[in-house]
Order: sequence, then structure tokens, then C-alpha cells
Amino acid sequence: MYREDFKILDQKINGYPLIYFDNAATTQKPQIVIDTLKEYYETINSNIHRGVHFLSQKATTQFEEAREMVRAFIHAEKAHEIIFTRGTTESINLLASSFGKMFIQPADEVLITEMEHHANIVPWQMICEAKGAKLKVVPFDNQGVLDLDKFEQLLTSKTKIVAITHISNALGTINPVKKIIDLAHAQNIPVVIDGAQAVSHEKIDVQALNCDFYCFSGHKMYAPMGIGVMYGKEKWLDKLPPYQGGGEMIKKVTFEKTTYNDLPFKFEAGTPAVPEALALKAAIAYINNIGIDKIAAHEQMLLQYATTKLAEIEDIRLYGTASLKAPILSFNLENIHPYDVGVIIDQLGIAVRTGHHCTQPIMDKWNIPGTIRASFALYNTQNEVDIFIDAVNKAKRMLG
Ligand code: PMP
Repeated sequence: MYREDFKILDQKINGYPLIYFDNAATTQKPQIVIDTLKEYYETINSNIHRGVHFLSQKATTQFEEAREMVRAFIHAEKAHEIIFTRGTTESINLLASSFGKMFIQPADEVLITEMEHHANIVPWQMICEAKGAKLKVVPFDNQGVLDLDKFEQLLTSKTKIVAITHISNALGTINPVKKIIDLAHAQNIPVVIDGAQAVSHEKIDVQALNCDFYCFSGHKMYAPMGIGVMYGKEKWLDKLPPYQGGGEMIKKVTFEKTTYNDLPFKFEAGTPAVPEALALKAAIAYINNIGIDKIAAHEQMLLQYATTKLAEIEDIRLYGTASLKAPILSFNLENIHPYDVGVIIDQLGIAVRTGHHCTQPIMDKWNIPGTIRASFALYNTQNEVDIFIDAVNKAKRMLG
């Protein structure tokens, strides 16, 4: 589908047509996104919010239109609930720092899960260490499904916030986030969702989910690197202290005291990634134009097909076999290091990721050094899956 929009795919690697199956790490960008960046620098480039001149006003208007586009995309109630960041990692650091400073006390608890990306572990660990609080972890089972009974047991009066991934980048599991949010809210505990892997695969509705915070990166949804989002309910964002200090986030500065700007600017210190924000708007328009349901259906077809084909290979072990999965396949060939398989299939022009996928606790749980991960996007094809399966078979013959 739509391959002509992605020039990068039209090249050979080691003499073979490129097959790009590393979409969970970052997706490729359609031409309209690349053109938006170029056009910004060729025709608009100017700093925002500060100038009365024509270009500055144009840049400001378009930047705020991008915010509105994101609002509509995740169905937030208000545009100022959308905070632009550099990506999911910065969004979670912002939150852990701001929320932690204000609401986490010694002996409090932060509840995460065993399948979190390091970006949703380490910032919480850091604030827990600083505050003398504890990090609690919900386990998952052999299929990569969270233990919800355990989750309920771990929700206590000490729990100050729940931070959970919507979709696991290493296992593909789609977590029952709505249920988790409802359970936490029943005890008045706010929930932050790491949506890095979810936004490009399903329609997100933060009001229907009723999550308190939702974080994601542009570059995993066909937009550029360097732009991301932290959505927060107004009632929380009003209460939280700023993360970074500097220009834009202030109302009035004197050496004695500074007062902070209104939302969303209170959380956007310094010059933001303006062209990247405009390109994120273009990426959202691109996704909307195709239809996220159509993208998801295509990716699910590839996932089912590839799962069946991979399972036919002898001595293969799939990690993450939940019934609800995103198009992510993590696997190993018995007694073969994942890195070796990655190197051979790279020689055949296929880009997959090998390693721990920034989820070392998952690898430790299964006592493996890593996995081979193939992840699909809208432009991948069934034919590419066939070539990939042949390549895995070839690697098995060579290394086995
Ligand atoms: N969370 C998840 C689930 C991810 O997959 C990733 C990216 N691999 C991140 C967080 C971090 O995203 P970024 O590097 O764009 O900040």
C-alpha cells in the first residue's frame, strides 16, 4: 500500500530490495512529511510566539494548528492539554519529574509493569530514589499478558500513579488499558499511558480511555524525529509545576520571583521543534487520509500471515503470543544468538531489530540475551513477509 509515497523503500541494500521491518523503532516518512520540513525552511522559517512580523505570525499560527490537529487525532478535549516535547522519553521524564516533585512522598509507591520500555521505568526509578518512594511492578505471564489480579493487589493507598504501556514494543501485547484506568480510578489513582507503540496502529481517544496522561513520539507514526506529545488532563496540568525553566514558559520574570505562563506554554520552555510539529500535522493528515482502521487491518493481516509462517519453522520460539497484538513479532531460533540471525538477514537487505529492545527486564525474565524483532507498517507487503521467512530459514541452515 502507498509505497510510492516512501522513496526510501525504493533502494537496494547489499544488492537486494530493501525490506524495512524495523517500524517499531521508527517508521519511514511519506514524501508530504519530508516536503513539509523543506518548505518550512524555504518559506516560513521564523521563531514563534515572539514576533509581530509576518513570518513569525505565520509560523505561530501553523504551530498552533499542529497542536489542534494532535488534539483532534487523540480526541483530547482542549488544545492546551497537548504539550509538545521531543518524544515519549521526554514526555515521561517531564511527568515523572513534575508529578514526582509535587505528589510523591517517602514510602509512596509508583506502579509500573514488567513489560515497560526503559523510558517508562528509569524516570520513575529516578524520582522514587530521590523521594524515598518505591517502584512496584506488575508481572506478565508466559504469553506476555499482564496479571490483572496482581495489578489489583498492588494498587494500594500508597500508590500515587500508575504508568503503563499501551502496547509492548518487545512483545506486541495490547494491554487492556481502559480496564486498568478504571481500576486505578476507582481508588483515585491517576494513570499515565505510554502510547509510543499504539498511536500508529489504532484510534486513540483519550477522553473515552479517561487516562490522565498519554505520551507518544512523532517518529513512530510517520512524522519526524524530535517531536512528541504529552497529553494531560487540564486539571492535572494546572496543578503540576513546570519541568524546565526558560523563555516561553514565563509570564513575568524578576530576580526575586518568576510567574509562569498559561497552559500549554508553562511546559514548553525554549524554542520548540516548529518544523517537526508542522510535519507531525502532515503525518496525521496522511494517516487520516488513508484511515487508521484500514492501516490496522492491513497490518493485522501481515501479522497473522507472518505468525503462521514463522510458527512453521522448526525450533522457533515466539515471545509474546497474546491474543490481542500489534504487528510486532519477537522470536529466536533455538541455540542461535539473535544477533547472528540479524546479521545474515541484513545481508539479504532485510532490516529487523535484534537485541533487548530497551526492555532488559523482559529479557532477564526469560533469561535470553535478546530477540529478533520484525515489526510492520502500512507500506509492508505479504511478498516481503515471504522473502523474510525464506531469509530466516536460510539463517537457520547457515547457523544451525
Ligand atoms: N516506549 C515505548 C513502548 C517505545 O517503544 C519507545 C521507543 N522504542 C519509547 C517508549 C521511547 O520512545 P522515544 O525513543 O521516541 O522517546
